[in-house]
Amino acid sequence: MNSEDVKAVRALLSKPQRIVIIPHKNPDGDAIGSCLGLWHYLKNLGLEATVVAPNDYPKFLKWMPGTESILNFEKQNSQALEVLEAASLCFTLDFNDLSRVGQLTPILLKSTAKFIMIDHHRSPDNYATITYSDPKMSSTCEMIYHFITKLDGKDKITEDIANCLYSGIVTDTGSFKFAATTSTTHRTAATLMEKGADNALIQNRIFDTNSPERLQLLGCALKNMVIIKEFHTAYTFLTQEELDTHNYKKGDTEGFVNYGLTIESIKFAVIFIENKEEGIIKISFRSQGQFSVNEFARAHFHGGGHTNAAGGKSDSDMSTAISRFTKLLNDYKDELNS
Ligand code: 5GP
Ligand code: MN
Repeated sequence: MNSEDVKAVRALLSKPQRIVIIPHKNPDGDAIGSCLGLWHYLKNLGLEATVVAPNDYPKFLKWMPGTESILNFEKQNSQALEVLEAASLCFTLDFNDLSRVGQLTPILLKSTAKFIMIDHHRSPDNYATITYSDPKMSSTCEMIYHFITKLDGKDKITEDIANCLYSGIVTDTGSFKFAATTSTTHRTAATLMEKGADNALIQNRIFDTNSPERLQLLGCALKNMVIIKEFHTAYTFLTQEELDTHNYKKGDTEGFVNYGLTIESIKFAVIFIENKEEGIIKISFRSQGQFSVNEFARAHFHGGGHTNAAGGKSDSDMSTAISRFTKLLNDYKDELNS
């Protein structure tokens, strides 16, 4: 964030505001962690702020300090709507495009609030008064750390803020192992630990929450995996029936896509997950090295994200989506073989 943006944010926060903080739909640890980290900071400044999530999020995130104050637009609709309509300032966190907030999109499009975007996805859209976008950052939580320290210094990072932000960094870096992890990420995490982030507890709460059904669902996804050697690609899928049989709960498939990349020589891993209720196939893309899944998802599956991690969707059925995908691989033969 440059010094002009810092000045502009300070000016906005120096006036009374009704602040709403919004993560993307199906929020993950980085989305929830960044919203709550920012929420604690604003509350500690004496400002009025509310987090409104477009929909529910996994149980393994529901321990974070402040989680009980989040309004779920699907469940607490009228209360959330009231907050959204009264908002004078709106922070949008961990997404780059207003189409990423599901049912909140039309509400935000007609809102008269000023917008501040803080996000690390590529190609940010141009809807905000202040856009703090940095695709080199590991996570939005890392950006919230820089946002707070630039505005106010490290003293304002409380233990609650530290626990929220550490959670998002751990989520988006896969516990500091993905390529987006930098020396700055480690320094940020170290400071957050000094401020009271409980690293072992956080890792345990986010990653060690398996139910037997979830592990069996993972087994199912691994069994369904198809390896296409000539394109260095591994894809898998889960049908609605398979999800139902394993008593699927939100968040259960988190991380499944990464297993494909652990196979030697695989550069591109994909999972297709059927969602009968929404009538779509939700797709997650991961890559190792130069191959940009952000561009791939954008070009072919209404999606986007980062160079090595992106998402998208298909409106067709599972077999049509998969066969379209496998045919497309031919066009990327050189990139996948380089
Ligand atoms: P995941 O595969 O874990 O759902 O998402 C991987 C990354 O891509 C995340 O940073 C997520 O925010 C982004 N992403 C997931 N789905 C979509 C999508 O439909 N559109 C866009 N633009 N980004 C997505
Ligand atoms: Mn993120």
